[in-house]
Amino acid sequence: MRVLIVGAGIAGPTLAYWLRRTGHDVTLVERAPRLREGGYVVDFWGAGFEVAERIGIVPRLRDEGYRFREAREVGGDGRRIAHFDPQRVIDGAAGRYVTIGRSDLSRAIYDALDGDVETIFGDTVAALADDGGRVGVTFQSGAEREFDLVVGADGLHSRVRALAFGPEREFERHLDIAVAAFDIDGYRPRDELVAVMHTEVGAQALRIALRDGATMFCIMFRHEGELPVDDVTAQQDLLRERLTGFGWEMPQILAQLPQARTFYMDGASQMLMPSWSRGRIALVGDAAACPSLLAGQGSALAMVEAYVLACALAEASGDHRAAFADYENRLAGLVRRKQDGAVGLSGAFVPRNRMMLLLRNAVFGLMGVPFIENLAIGRSLRDPIELPPVPAG
Ligand SMILES: Cc1cc2nc3c(=O)[nH]c(=O)nc-3n(C[C@H](O)[C@H](O)[C@H](O)COP(=O)(O)OP(=O)(O)OC[C@H]3O[C@@H](n4cnc5c(N)ncnc54)[C@H](O)[C@@H]3O)c2cc1C
Repeated sequence: MRVLIVGAGIAGPTLAYWLRRTGHDVTLVERAPRLREGGYVVDFWGAGFEVAERIGIVPRLRDEGYRFREAREVGGDGRRIAHFDPQRVIDGAAGRYVTIGRSDLSRAIYDALDGDVETIFGDTVAALADDGGRVGVTFQSGAEREFDLVVGADGLHSRVRALAFGPEREFERHLDIAVAAFDIDGYRPRDELVAVMHTEVGAQALRIALRDGATMFCIMFRHEGELPVDDVTAQQDLLRERLTGFGWEMPQILAQLPQARTFYMDGASQMLMPSWSRGRIALVGDAAACPSLLAGQGSALAMVEAYVLACALAEASGDHRAAFADYENRLAGLVRRKQDGAVGLSGAFVPRNRMMLLLRNAVFGLMGVPFIENLAIGRSLRDPIELPPVPAG
């Protein structure tokens, strides 16, 4: 089949890889002029890691990833108040765990395509017309083409979803948290291979030293309502306004904000769709079922969804209706449980009141006790899903 995949992030290239392997004619279209670079790091584990193993990119991910030696919670004065050893988490996942730049993960998957998939950068879909027999696509550039299937892998604010399923607000579950992630060159202090966190009522800041002298910050704060869209100045002004009075290193972090190499701000939201497909159009990754960064598994789930969708299409021998139904039946329950679990974690990231803050810090401290840690980690690092076998090429 001729398949158009919209979005070359994590889900898009993964789907392209498996569809190409199973003999489909794939086109990827990415809005950005090139693959995104820099940005935040993700913890990558679970069934998605197994998909990466099947693609054969795990050695590269380990090379390019980070192996942290400590997760540390500090007080306002910078002194350690609790900590644990992430190696125990990695052991809990039987070594199948890596912390890596999201853009490095995306590029590793994309490179596995060996330049064998038509990729159009700097364009997107403007209109989709599914007449039952094929999908007529009008691109933003004005080009018009036909495909047998169109898959939206274009992230949380998916254009494909808006065009084919309806406005985002109909499917969005707000978690009332905003997140800013950015990286700054030459920031001091640096703590190599330590994830340093400071949490107060209503906000949390995380600092991670990256290679080449860069430092990544991830700041979450309680926020209800709209955020400025596509306006970095307004977003940074909002961050300054909301983090004024926050202790620790925040004044100097905010002072260096204008030098950030990359800057991302968005609401922490989830996508709860009644269905992941309509006719010949389907969704995958954050576009279909964003679990939010609080789940710590959006990348892995995006890869699992892409893999299972490709397997379902291979098994259904061209019957896209059966394949789309199978894809959703296999995964919707798992993904929904991950989403619900993430909602329950919001207080652990951004406590609503002092009581929650104290409780959160106490639990974080207990993570340093091996028995408690094993109990907590052992449970959460097992994805209750068996991946279908690699489809025949
Ligand atoms: C701060 C932060 C921390 C996170 N931490 C983790 C973590 O620890 N572990 C984890 O697993 N996940 C984490 N996540 C979530 C993870 O990044 C996402 O779940 C994952 O990237 C989803 O992959 P995707 O391919 O569906 O979407 P994306 O990675 O968002 O990719 C979508 C792609 O589509 C492109 N695109 C967008 N619109 C269009 C359009 N109209 N036309 C064409 N192309 C378009 C985009 O440019 C992008 O390349 C985190 C997220 C954030 C924001």
